Order: sequence, then C-alpha cells, then structure tokens
Amino acid sequence: MSKKLLLKNAHIEGIRYFETYRKHGGYEAAEKALKMKPEEILEEVKTSGLRGRGGAGFPTGMKWSFLAKPEGVPRHLVVNADESEPGTFKDRYLMEFLPHLLIEGMLISSYTLGSNTSYIYIRGEYSWIPDILEEAIEEAKAAGFLGKNILGTGFDLEIYVQRGAGAYICGEETALLESLEGRRGNPRLKPPFPAVKGLWERPTVVNNVESIAAVVPIIEIGGAEYAKIGVGRSTGTKLISACGNINKPGVYEIDMTITVEEFIYSDEYCGGIPNGKKLKACIPGGSSVPIVPANLLLKTINGEPRYMNYESLADGGFATGTMMGSGGFIVLDEDQCVVNHTMTLARFYNHESCGQCTPCREGTGWMYKILKKIEKGEGKMEDIDLLWDIQRKIEGNTICPLGDAAAWPVAAAIRHFRDEFEWHVNNPELSQTQNYGIANY
Ligand code: NAD
Ligand code: SF4
Repeated sequence: MSKKLLLKNAHIEGIRYFETYRKHGGYEAAEKALKMKPEEILEEVKTSGLRGRGGAGFPTGMKWSFLAKPEGVPRHLVVNADESEPGTFKDRYLMEFLPHLLIEGMLISSYTLGSNTSYIYIRGEYSWIPDILEEAIEEAKAAGFLGKNILGTGFDLEIYVQRGAGAYICGEETALLESLEGRRGNPRLKPPFPAVKGLWERPTVVNNVESIAAVVPIIEIGGAEYAKIGVGRSTGTKLISACGNINKPGVYEIDMTITVEEFIYSDEYCGGIPNGKKLKACIPGGSSVPIVPANLLLKTINGEPRYMNYESLADGGFATGTMMGSGGFIVLDEDQCVVNHTMTLARFYNHESCGQCTPCREGTGWMYKILKKIEKGEGKMEDIDLLWDIQRKIEGNTICPLGDAAAWPVAAAIRHFRDEFEWHVNNPELSQTQNYGIANY
C-alpha cells in the first residue's frame, strides 16, 4: 500500500471548503512555517529532495536557492497550472478537489521566497477550476491566511488566478510569463532563467501545482522524513494520472518504490488491461517522453524489474528507457497501432508549435505529413529514414523543449516499432482499412 501525503484527505466530503480542510489539519503546516525563518524552510525543502513535478524533475530547493534577491525589487512565485501534456491530469485533480492544499503550499512557498504577489496560471480548458480556486482564495483571506499581516507576522500575500487561452506552449515557463505579461506566449531564450529575470524582469520562481502542494507535507513531517519515503533521488510521493487501455483510469499517489508491473496490474492502481488483452507499450510520463515496448517497460535491459521512479524509468537512456516526465501514464494494448498513435502526437505538436524556430515549425509539419502518408499506406521505405533524419535535426536545435518533445516520440516509435512502419509500407491496401495491431495479433 502506497503512502498517501497529498491525497490522504481527498476522499473527505467537503474537503474543498476551508472549514472542512481546516478541521482535518489544514493550514497547520502554514502556521508552523510562519513561525520559522524562510532560510529554515528552504533547508527543509532541500533536505526533502523534492524534484519538480511538472516534468523536468529539477530539484525544487535548488531552484528556490537560485532566486536572485536584488535590493528593492519585488519577487514572485508563479504556479504553473497550464497542465496540457497529453495524458496528464493530476494537477486538475488536486486543484478541483484540494484547492486549499495548493493555496497553503503557495502561502508557505511565497513566505520562503519573499513573494507578496503570487500567481496561478491555469490552462484555459480547465474552465470550471478558476472559480473553485478563487472561492478558496476568498475563504483563506476571510480566515486571515491571505491578505495583509497574515497571522500577525507582518507578511502580506495576494494570490491571483490567470486563465490561459488554450495554447500548449504556455506551459513552457517563459512562454507562460510572456502570456501573464499580456503578450503572445512565445518562449524566451534561457538563460537568463526566470529565477534571475522572470515576470516583468523580476526574479521569479515558476513551480508546478503538485510541487507546491508537496511543500505542505514536507513542513508537516519535516524534510528528512519526507526524504525517507521513496528511493534514491526519487523521494516523497508522486501523483500519476493513468489512462489508455487499463481497467481503472484515474489519479494515483505512489511512493516510487512500486514496480511498473504492479502499477499496471494491481487492483490498487490500474487494475490490469481490459478483455485479457496483452500489454504492448506504454508512455509513462506524458506524450513528450519516449514510448517503451512491454518487454523494456516491465524489466530493464539487465532483467531487473523496472520501478515507477525517475532513475529506473530512465535506466538505459533513450535506447531502452524512458522518463518519469509529468506522470501522465498512457497504456497501449496489443490492438493499438504505434504509427497511428505517433501520427496523432505529431499532429498535436505541429499544431502547438509557436513557430519561432525553423526546425520545430517546419520539422513538426514534415513529420506529421510523412507519418500521415505512411499510416495511410502511401509511404515508401525511404520515408521511414527521412522521418528519422528530420527528428534528429529538430532535437537540441530549438529555443524550447517543445522541439525535443516532438522529436522523441517519433524517434522511440521508429527505434522500437520499425516493423510496424514497414508493415504499413508493405501492405498499402490493408493499412487503409486495418489497424496494424488488430491485423497482426
Ligand atoms: P528545464 O530542465 O529546462 O528546467 C527545469 C526548471 O529548472 C525550470 O524551471 C528552469 O527555470 C529551472 N532551471 C534549470 N536550470 C537552472 C539554472 N541554472 N538556474 C535557475 N533555474 C534553472 O525544463 P522545462 O522546460 O522547465 O520543462 C520541460 C519538461 O516539462 C519536460 O520534461 C516535460 O515533461 C514537461 N512538460 C510538462 C507539461 C505538463 O502539462 N505538466 C507539459 C509540457 C511539458
Ligand atoms: Fe516555438 Fe517550437 Fe521553437 Fe519552442 S521549439 S520556441 S514551440 S518553434
């Protein structure tokens, strides 16, 4: 049984509201934190080993310690709630059912960072959630946990919710900041990182919703206790949103010591694959991370079980491993066609490219066109090599990671499922009417 830190009270009726949240220990971590010095809280977060839960896994305490503190310049905390990675919906769950956990985490984090004005930038498609967050903000303010002179400490904090307009690229932190400033969401070149030059050129920490929510249990139990949960550099708990061909899609909190096999087949989590179908592959960290076939998903190349954590999922590099990413766990059964799936993703990245850099703007379009051709049975063998060549020319040659995110799924699909691409080329008539998976299993 996995340890629950974030979702331990999620089942309680009315936990969305301040009164119920408070009755179950809510804002006690904030009360404790506000009696500590900001440097002490920073140390707890560093000791906890918490890594950014948005996808990159960058150590949160280290990011906070990079925040520049020039005299007289305001600093900001911006919560990245632009959760748009296909397959990822764990932040939505947190904000919808536990909004006060996020607000409490923001209060502790803002106090630590010295931010008196903090923001939640939320994905436009999550249209019903801003009202939930704004109601929670009002409740917290009425109870003295936001606003002026919080709990008599002299610390002031206002939190604003900003709705996005539906662009995936605004989840990239610098595009998000551009959008928050009222401009088109085009990513900026890094460095400078937001910690030095962020919102309105002020030092800014941009953190994912789950990362900020995790600060609450870290203060509750202490960084050292938090670090004992999990394994290696994968400390604490992680939310996973599971979807695809599984019996029990949903959001699960895991302690990163369970195996991938247990996660997929145990009744506590995904509950296995419907209709007794075989597992074909999985994309464990949202659509941007490489797809892995079943044999490499359940075991590493050395025959060790693969675990649901940062290190084990990445074991073997991109040749045989993948990434934890955002925790958007997409399962494909034996009936699925990898070419069709890859084409769908290529269309997505092509549509979402902001168009600033040529390799991404042009390359994503080319990849989509070629994949569409192959999938329809109109491709040639050379097209598979051309596709490989294009993705290599995108990777590492763009301003932001969207280019890499578009290239990696294509590379992994060709690397592990070349036979499916070749089947489409060799069976033009069949591939117009049949899906590779159904035709071949
Ligand atoms: P990144 O590795 O460039 O940066 C991670 C974080 O660390 C950033 O906040 C960055 O500012 C900070 N950082 C890194 N080096 C720093 C330094 N020297 N000084 C100060 N700060 C520093 O990755 P990223 O672009 O933030 O994120 C990419 C990830 O986002 C991908 O791995 C993908 O999984 C994920 N993603 C998630 C979603 C979602 O919906 N959750 C959507 C798209 C992509
Ligand atoms: Fe825009 Fe793509 Fe370049 Fe990112 S990689 S800045 S999305 S064109």
